[in-house]
Amino acid sequence: MLPRRSFVVFRSFLSRNYASAPPPHALIFLEHRQGDVDSGSLSALTAASLLGGKVTGLVVGSPEYVPAVVDKVKKLKGLTSLLHSTSDLYAQQLPETLSPLLEKLLSDSEYTHVISTPSSLAKSLLPRVAAKLDVPSVSEITSLEHDSSSNSTTFTRPIYAGNAISTVRLSSSVPIKFFTVRATNFDPAPSEESQEIEVKAVDPVDVPECPVEHISTQLSKSDRPDLSVAGRVVSGGRPLKNAETFASTLNPLADVLGAAVGASRAAVDAGYADNSLQVGQTGKVVAPELYMAIGISGAIQHLAGMKDSKMIVAVNKDPDAPIFQVADVGLVADLYEAVPQIIEKLKQ
Ligand SMILES: Cc1cc2nc3c(=O)[nH]c(=O)nc-3n(C[C@H](O)[C@H](O)[C@H](O)COP(=O)(O)OP(=O)(O)OC[C@H]3O[C@@H](n4cnc5c(N)ncnc54)[C@H](O)[C@@H]3O)c2cc1C
Repeated sequence: MLPRRSFVVFRSFLSRNYASAPPPHALIFLEHRQGDVDSGSLSALTAASLLGGKVTGLVVGSPEYVPAVVDKVKKLKGLTSLLHSTSDLYAQQLPETLSPLLEKLLSDSEYTHVISTPSSLAKSLLPRVAAKLDVPSVSEITSLEHDSSSNSTTFTRPIYAGNAISTVRLSSSVPIKFFTVRATNFDPAPSEESQEIEVKAVDPVDVPECPVEHISTQLSKSDRPDLSVAGRVVSGGRPLKNAETFASTLNPLADVLGAAVGASRAAVDAGYADNSLQVGQTGKVVAPELYMAIGISGAIQHLAGMKDSKMIVAVNKDPDAPIFQVADVGLVADLYEAVPQIIEKLKQ
């Protein structure tokens, strides 16, 4: 037997009886960290606008941060209304505490799409809510097209580590279409000072017997640009030997370029670099103006995370390294000789 809450939601879906296809109305989950709006959410908002209908933002968090975030978010181009829910329960954002709120918002509304950036939280939250509503969730879309006449939305998304592009259509039989948006494929939504939209508070939904408890969060701190959105990235691989050599070789190059530092999985697995710096299929996907691959072979799993960079520069001592197949500029050299020379030239 279905749990009571699920039954209510299901019945409200069945009771939707549109004479014609409903116009798109997207609910976008906007993430923030300590008062700053997540840049991936801004790209997701641009994607939401492309549906061609109303876009309602949702900001959730603790009383400490939500007011400031609401002030910033309500100016974002593309939003037509904004909901916010404030509670200490949402100070640490967990799928288990947030999904009841989303379910409630969706159970009694005309939302046609639910959208988010593919953050660690959203990767758990959206499929969780979608599964409870018995609808699919499409992850990391790179383009979308909505056909209002048939109420279907067609997406593209990379599969097989980016070696193939899959086209997926969610038809009118899916009443609410869930998807996450790959940030590198959509420009971040800008702010518009003159914008006036409806802003409404919604009550938090209590979770009396939450099965999980947040214990602690350990964030890696860095003064460098955020890898996900940096305009320039310097990445290192296995031949960087150890954490000290990795830092002493790559940091001066990143400093002179004002770049973020990234790493191959081999470098991360060997402990040269933090997990958060991994670029690739199982790491971050980046598309900076400049990506420098230093001593990285160019395995497909690494390429999946950086091949859309505008300019790729590779330094590798093996002329047959696969990275040269995607590089715009390639230097066949020992990185320990080449990198200091590049730094000197850049300083000049
Ligand atoms: C399911 C799965 C997911 C994965 N996800 C990821 C991912 O997200 N990101 C990722 O990066 N990998 C990922 N991998 C691992 C990937 O397959 C490769 O093993 C990894 O990318 C190799 O890292 P590397 O290029 O640093 O090391 P290697 O493959 O060892 O390459 C080192 C390169 O450095 C060159 N070199 C050596 N010495 C020097 C020198 N002195 N000067 C210049 N060049 C030198 C060599 O010629 C070589 O090309 C994944 C693998 C699997 C199976």
